[in-house]
Amino acid sequence: MSHEETEKGDTLRCPACRSEALYRYGRTRQGKQRRLCLTCGRQFVEETRRPEIAARPTCPLCNSPMYIYRRDVTVTRFRCSRYPLCTQYLTIRKETKG
Ligand SMILES: [Zn+2]
Ligand SMILES: [Zn+2]
Repeated sequence: MSHEETEKGDTLRCPACRSEALYRYGRTRQGKQRRLCLTCGRQFVEETRRPEIAARPTCPLCNSPMYIYRRDVTVTRFRCSRYPLCTQYLTIRKETKG
């Protein structure tokens, strides 16, 4: 048995059964690591956490979900999902700690 995983940090677990018996199952087209749980047989994609964006905002005009339109070093710009019917934009500044 090869053991490529490092034990440092958070141990990756199956989101369904919390098992640690995970098998690398190739990659998605986006380059994300795909995993196969050997306990329950479920496939899932290892999500990379982006703490700067906690939740997707909703459009203040039409209440539709907004999507990332442009991401900068300091700000993230969202655009209404109903664009071009709704041309509402939202700019969120990143919070800097310290
Ligand atoms: Zn599982
Ligand atoms: Zn809208």
